[in-house]
Amino acid sequence: VSATGRLPRWLKRPIPKSNSNHLTDQLMEELNLETVCENAKCPNRMECYSQQTATFMILGNVCTRPCGFCAVHRGRPPEAPAVDEPTRIAQAALKLGLKHVVITSVTRDDLPDGGADHFYQCVVAVREATGATTEVLTPDFVHCKDALERVIEARPDVFNHNMETVPRLYRRVRGPKSDYAWTLQMMREVKRYDSSVKTKSGLMLGLGEERGELLDALADLREYGVDFLTLGQYLQPGEKYLPVVRYVPPEEFDEIADLARAMGFAKVAAGPFVRSSYHARDMAETDVTS
Ligand code: SF4
Ligand code: SF4
Repeated sequence: VSATGRLPRWLKRPIPKSNSNHLTDQLMEELNLETVCENAKCPNRMECYSQQTATFMILGNVCTRPCGFCAVHRGRPPEAPAVDEPTRIAQAALKLGLKHVVITSVTRDDLPDGGADHFYQCVVAVREATGATTEVLTPDFVHCKDALERVIEARPDVFNHNMETVPRLYRRVRGPKSDYAWTLQMMREVKRYDSSVKTKSGLMLGLGEERGELLDALADLREYGVDFLTLGQYLQPGEKYLPVVRYVPPEEFDEIADLARAMGFAKVAAGPFVRSSYHARDMAETDVTS
């Protein structure tokens, strides 16, 4: 049964008119860069910018995977990675005075390393130019351990890869190439390769997951050493995407967040509007012991 179309009161939040940041828009255009913040018209922009955080999208805007929840354009990406993109991102981060830079990308199954070396170049360029902390929010790098290690070699402060949903719904939500075991394995490999890198993952709620399945998935993340967790409400980006099965009330997010903290996550952000990079700087600065 679909819940789409009946928006509950806690999701009816006015979008502030002043949300667009002219300076940021202009700079992104000048440097031919994409931020997820602007592209997705993310409602958290004012908050994130004021915390000097933004999320850049690298490796183009065409994705090779068909996730049923995601509005990014899919198809065959036209180009090899732009060699000057790392420098352009570093310049933008410097001009915006960012203190925490999140770098994400589409999935590039057409590249032998899934874009791992490009992630490496971007992280290094941003850190050298700005001294900001860095976070990568990654695809699964064609299930290749060497590619994953290349990204970790750049020593991002936070390695973030979203689990997105419970294993039973993986193929339906994340498509046929998704692999729950590899999602978890990546997290373990990151720590094994460099235990100083903090790991983070997130799920969308409301796709049909049962409470027990969700808690099992969170326990799996902890078992694989994941430090930080984000939980947000899935919202259908358009008619052709997966329907919302359920709108999870804010109190339930709070309750699940408490359970997750009790499992040992060092930081948990949970709520209807929470997105993967929401309060990212705050999380990045949290000490972890695992
Ligand atoms: Fe950008 Fe993420 Fe903040 Fe949204 S939550 S404004 S995408 S950094
Ligand atoms: Fe969207 Fe990422 Fe899935 Fe591509 S792999 S469709 S960018 S969620």
